[in-house]
Amino acid sequence: MRRIFLGLLMLATQSLIAQKTLLHCGQLIDVKNGVQLPQMTIVVEGNKVVDIQKGYTNPAADQTVINLKNLTVMPGLIDMHVHLESETGPASYLNGFTYNPADFAFQSVVFAEKTLMSGFTAVRDLGGTNVNIALRNAINKGWIVGPRVYTAGKSLASTGGHADPTNNYRKDLMGDPGPREGVVNSVEDAAKAVRQRYKDGADLIKITATGGVLSMAKDGSGAQFTVEEIKAIVQTANDYGFKVAAHAHGAEGMKRAVLGGVHSIEHGSYMSEEVMDLMKEKGTYLVPTIVAGKSTADSAKKPGYYPDIVKAKALVIGNFIQGTFAKAYKRGVKIAFGTDAGVYAHGKNWLEFQYMNEVGMPVLEAIKCATVNAADLLGDDSIGSIEKGKMADIIAVDGNPEKDVTSMGRVKFVMKGGKVFKQ
Ligand SMILES: [Zn+2]
Repeated sequence: MRRIFLGLLMLATQSLIAQKTLLHCGQLIDVKNGVQLPQMTIVVEGNKVVDIQKGYTNPAADQTVINLKNLTVMPGLIDMHVHLESETGPASYLNGFTYNPADFAFQSVVFAEKTLMSGFTAVRDLGGTNVNIALRNAINKGWIVGPRVYTAGKSLASTGGHADPTNNYRKDLMGDPGPREGVVNSVEDAAKAVRQRYKDGADLIKITATGGVLSMAKDGSGAQFTVEEIKAIVQTANDYGFKVAAHAHGAEGMKRAVLGGVHSIEHGSYMSEEVMDLMKEKGTYLVPTIVAGKSTADSAKKPGYYPDIVKAKALVIGNFIQGTFAKAYKRGVKIAFGTDAGVYAHGKNWLEFQYMNEVGMPVLEAIKCATVNAADLLGDDSIGSIEKGKMADIIAVDGNPEKDVTSMGRVKFVMKGGKVFKQ
């Protein structure tokens, strides 16, 4: 009797898993071909897309229908540059001294949920304190709600560089951070720092190839690694299947990073034509983060928002990114979508679509940067498009993004791995 009951239970569970959901889509964006298809049905089973059909397919008795007939449906968006542990504010610098890791962890839960609800079903977290690794694990376990997270853990810098964790501290607090803390000053340090990230549980490596805007340091754009150090980072990263993302504002540091073999240049503010051509040759992606540049430049105008040393840099560098993006795009550099969320308020990632579109990139191409291209840069072919056998990461927006880019900010439906999070 007991055996029969267990057998029935297993059958019931199987049929529950096998149950199909039909998504009736008013418009479906085919991101690979850059076209919109009217009146389509996506069939989802478990966590995957199993079929795409023309017209609105009638459900069988055991199938559920989700009505998205008034919406534009597309693959879940991917933001290749976020910081889920924190968010900008006049108190950001103080938080490093007053928050415990648990405080960062709890606030990251809020930011992760906001990110998913705004249509981003996957993100690359490019640097924090390692809370982002625990955050990824908690999302994967289903404890909390958030996007798929691919995390760099703690970023790598050289001493005094953009991601040196004790910049501008008083001497007794400054110490001498090394590879374990993400500070690298030689080829040997480089290998050790990457291996430490592997041990910490990171998915990829982030380096700060030049100075940056928000660190408490004077130089915002100068080169901060040698080519040899970057090569050693990339070679060691390759051993673990890690990609390497390089934060860079100045052209010299960018050039060294590209020559060193990194997979993406983040920001790219003062990118020269020489660097653009080198990136084309090597297949290096640009992840522009225009929204971060604009919002830091705006925040810098508010009295007391940033320390003076940061303010001076933010007023200048932030404004360059959009123009550089336009030039790199026209020159044929590969682009993946990224925003630096956290440097501005989480959940407004969609603004990047507007800024990309403003300087000449068609909206459907910007969406391709946030889906197909992003998945390519991640090295994950299970996401990034709605196709048979891929993960059912699907969103829908109110309106037609091609006619009105602000519709990207009106996300009405979010499905991740076949599970509905917003409807
Ligand atoms: Zn960043």
